[in-house]
Amino acid sequence: MSIVETDGPELLAALRKLLAAKNIVSDEDIAARRQSTDNASPGQGAKMVARAWTDPAYKALMLEDGTKAAEAMNIPMVGMPPLGVLENTGDVHNLIVCTLCSCYPRAVLGYPPFWYKSAAYRARAVRDPRGLLGEFRTTLPDDVQIHVVDSTADYRWMVLPKRPEGTEGWSVEQLAAIVREGDMVGVTVPSV
Ligand code: FE
Repeated sequence: MSIVETDGPELLAALRKLLAAKNIVSDEDIAARRQSTDNASPGQGAKMVARAWTDPAYKALMLEDGTKAAEAMNIPMVGMPPLGVLENTGDVHNLIVCTLCSCYPRAVLGYPPFWYKSAAYRARAVRDPRGLLGEFRTTLPDDVQIHVVDSTADYRWMVLPKRPEGTEGWSVEQLAAIVREGDMVGVTVPSV
């Protein structure tokens, strides 16, 4: 039996007390981090995307500073690595991967999808991004350049997908409803 199993709660309490006493991590910090992890889901990212599609000033903020754009949507980012947002256009398609492990903008999107952590995804995103996209049934025109972007422990990336045609006049809620998890990683594109 491990120490953690026998003395888990006592050890944890003692550690938290020590961290608080040394002004390293307070109980409030832990509560805030817990809340951000519990509330994070692709739905939060979808709301940011939908707002960016309808609000040019918000889109500009999002592309300049993803962390501030998340905070503007009341997503707690304290203690989280900075968030960068990359825009997919008619010329460039961004695909996010963590080649080293599974770095993901968890504060915004929640836990990464299972395939994101797989060795196959991490290797193939780099070696054959277009082939990988094909496996997600995503076909891009040949003249669209694919940028493969590495998320790291120091900097997390998400994609601002291209707004699909046929969504003119849609409400923010309607738009958010068509944005899926994979669209914000770049393995899929929103469609109507
Ligand atoms: Fe990682």
